[in-house]
Amino acid sequence: MDLDTAVAHPGRATPIADRTALYLDGQWAAPHGTGRIAVVDPTTEQVIAYVPAGDAVDVDRAVAAAKAAFPHWSGLAPAERAAHLDRLHTALSARAADIATTVARELGTPLRVATRVQAGLPLTVLRGYAELAAAPPAAHTVGNSLIVSEPVGVVGAITPWNYPLHQIMAKVAGALAAGCTVVLKPADLTPLVAYLLFDAVHEAQLPPGVVNLVSGPGSAVGSAIAAHPDVDLVSFTGSTATGARISHLAADRIARVALELGGKSANVILDDADLPRAVKTGVANAFLNSGQTCTAWTRMLVHRSRYEEALELAAAAANAQTLGDPLDEGTRLGPLSSAAQRDTVRGYIAKGLADGARLVAGGLDAPVPPTGYFVAPTVLADVDPDSTVAQEEIFGPVLVVLPFDDDDDAVAIANNSRYGLAGAVWSGDEERALAVARRMRTGAVDVNGAAFNPLAPFGGYKQSGIGRELGAHGLAEFLETKAIQR
Ligand code: NAD
Repeated sequence: MDLDTAVAHPGRATPIADRTALYLDGQWAAPHGTGRIAVVDPTTEQVIAYVPAGDAVDVDRAVAAAKAAFPHWSGLAPAERAAHLDRLHTALSARAADIATTVARELGTPLRVATRVQAGLPLTVLRGYAELAAAPPAAHTVGNSLIVSEPVGVVGAITPWNYPLHQIMAKVAGALAAGCTVVLKPADLTPLVAYLLFDAVHEAQLPPGVVNLVSGPGSAVGSAIAAHPDVDLVSFTGSTATGARISHLAADRIARVALELGGKSANVILDDADLPRAVKTGVANAFLNSGQTCTAWTRMLVHRSRYEEALELAAAAANAQTLGDPLDEGTRLGPLSSAAQRDTVRGYIAKGLADGARLVAGGLDAPVPPTGYFVAPTVLADVDPDSTVAQEEIFGPVLVVLPFDDDDDAVAIANNSRYGLAGAVWSGDEERALAVARRMRTGAVDVNGAAFNPLAPFGGYKQSGIGRELGAHGLAEFLETKAIQR
C-alpha cells in the first residue's frame, strides 16, 4: 500500500461532513466552546473532519438538561423505555455500514472487523439492554422490608477511542435502560461515530435531555463532567491513570464511579492443550484492532516443554497478519490510532529488546506501509516476567511469550500483574482448565477459546477497574437499592 492508493481508495471518495453542533436537550445546539477538534485518518495521516470542542459551560448545559429530563424518564413504565431503545436500535441499525466505515477511517480498524465488532457489537448490546429495560429487577421482601431498585440519576459517561461505539453503548444503553439520563463525552481521536449515534438518537425521538453529547478534550470537558455536582455517577472507560484522576474528582462529593481500565491479560497454555489452536487464537486475540484492546491476551504463557514449538507457531501466525489499508477486504492489521500511539509502542519494543528479549517476529525494522501509523506485529520471547514489556499495557501489536513449569507456576505468573481484566486457559482437560481459571485474579477467563458473551458481566479486578458493564450486572451499576420498612 502506498499513500496514493490509500488516499484514492474508493471508500474515501465520500467526504465526511464537519460537525459544528453539540447535542443538548433533544436538539443540535451551537457550542459555547469556540475550539474544534481535527479528526485524523491514521492510514493516510490526513484530517478527515472537524468536530466542536465544547467547554465547561457546555457541560453545565448538558447536565442541566439531563437533570431536568430525569423525573420523566425514570418515571416511564419499563415497556415505554424499552420501546424508546427499540426505536434507537432501528435508527442505529440503518447506519451500521456507515458506522463500520467511519470507525475504519477515524481509528483504522480493518473493515471486516469494524463491521462485526465496531458496528455489530454495539447493536447487540443495545438490543440486550432494550430487553432488560422491559424487565427490570423486581422488588422483593426481606422480613418487614420491601427492597426496591431505583435509577441512580444523571450519569456522566467518558469513553476511549479503541472500541468507540461499543464503549459508549455499554454505558448509554445500560444507563437509559435503568432509567438514568446521560451526558456523554466521547474520545477526541474518534468522535465521528458518536455523532452517528446522536443522529440516530434524534431520529428515534428520544425525549429531550435524556441523552446529551459534548465532544471536547478530556482536560476540559471530561474533568468538568467528573467534577460536576449534579452528576450522580461517573462511568469511565480509559487508562488507569485517567481513571484515578476521575476518582479523585468524584470523591470530593462522594459521587459514584464505575471504571473500566487497562489490562495485561495472560493466555495460559497448559502442556496438554491443542497447541496450534491455542497459539493461533491467542495471536489473533493479542493483535485484534492492532493490539488496542483492553482485554487483549498480551502475555502468552506456555508450558516449558512446548515453548520453542509455540514460538514457531506464534511467529508464523504473526507474520501471516496482513498489514494494510483498513478499507481493503484482505487487511487483518490496520495502523495504530495516532502517531503518538505508534511512537509509544515502538518505544516499548525498543525497551523490551534492550532488556534482553529475543525477537521472534516483527520488530522495529520489519517492513510497514510508508504512510500511516503502522507497527509490524511483534513477538518477543525470553522476557523477564517482571520486566517493563511483561508488566505494562503496551496497547499495540506486541505479544510477549513466557515459559512456565507447572500449573502453580502458570497461575503465579498470570497473577503477577497490577491488572486483572481478562485471560484465557487452554487444556485437553476442561476440569483442569477450570481449576486454573478460578485461580486467576481477573474479571473474565475464556476456556479453550470460548466465545465472548455480551450478556456476561465485564470488568476488572485490581487496577483494571471498579464495577461491571453489560447484561444484568451492568444494569445494576446504574441502580440504587432502597429498603422500605412497613
Ligand atoms: P484516556 O484515559 O487517555 O482517555 C479516555 C477518555 O478520558 C477520553 O475521552 C479522554 O478524553 C478522557 N480524559 C482524558 N483525560 C481526562 C481527565 N483529566 N479528566 C476527564 N477525562 C479525561 O485513555 P485512551 O488513551 O483514550 O484509551 C486507552 C486506554 O483505555 C488503555 O489504557 C485501555 O486499556 C483503556 N481501555 C480500557 C477498557 C476497559 O473496558 N477496561 C476499554 C477500552 C480501553
